Amino acid sequence: MADEGAHEHELEAGDFSPWLEEMQHALRGERDSDVPCGTCTACCTASQFVHIGPDETDALAHIPAQLLFPAPRLARGHVLMGYDERGHCPMLVDGGCSIYAHRPRTCRTYDCRIFAAAGLEADAAADRADWRDPHKAAIARQADRWRFGFTTPSDRLRADAVRAAVTFVREHPDVLSARAALPSTIGLAVVAVELHDVFLQRDEMSGGLVPVAPEPGAVRVELSRRRGGAAAC
Ligand code: SF4
Repeated sequence: MADEGAHEHELEAGDFSPWLEEMQHALRGERDSDVPCGTCTACCTASQFVHIGPDETDALAHIPAQLLFPAPRLARGHVLMGYDERGHCPMLVDGGCSIYAHRPRTCRTYDCRIFAAAGLEADAAADRADWRDPHKAAIARQADRWRFGFTTPSDRLRADAVRAAVTFVREHPDVLSARAALPSTIGLAVVAVELHDVFLQRDEMSGGLVPVAPEPGAVRVELSRRRGGAAAC
């Protein structure tokens, strides 16, 4: 668990563009996130429900069935793992994940640097709990420590595009679904990473990236296309 003074120390998050590419691979399920967590276990002790899909047979085989319950609003077979009275995942033992090699996809792809990338560090504690929850606050503190490198012009442009996507989705939540409900903080950050390149295009003259302001209809179509036609969020 993050120590109480963790926010005093900055952490190197790596250069922005390589991180963004890795994050996109992780979100598509193509590889695990590679987060330099150190001794931090904030995300395992933050009163979070861990979603496990029906295809995750290895994870399901290593988690006692009595710790799982059907996931609301998801198809049969999708389950959630809860947390104990301290807000800790029940698979966290002696400060470490007891099923690390078999942990769920949710854990494999979780990367709290996404809050820093999206400019949502201050909102990172808001999901499913209020700011007074010390476990959620630990995630917010950890997210606030990350510092990305911006060694190329593209690093800065891509970071600005992710934040532009956050602002856009907040102003046009209807691009996500007909019900126009904003997603959770992590959901907003994920959508922004998925969509950031819609806010960039190649300049024909220079060949470099330049920011653009897409229309909501174009963003809606693009998001639906990237998610296989499913209603987003
Ligand atoms: S399964 Fe492991 S990695 Fe996932 S929340 Fe629990 S302790 Fe953390």
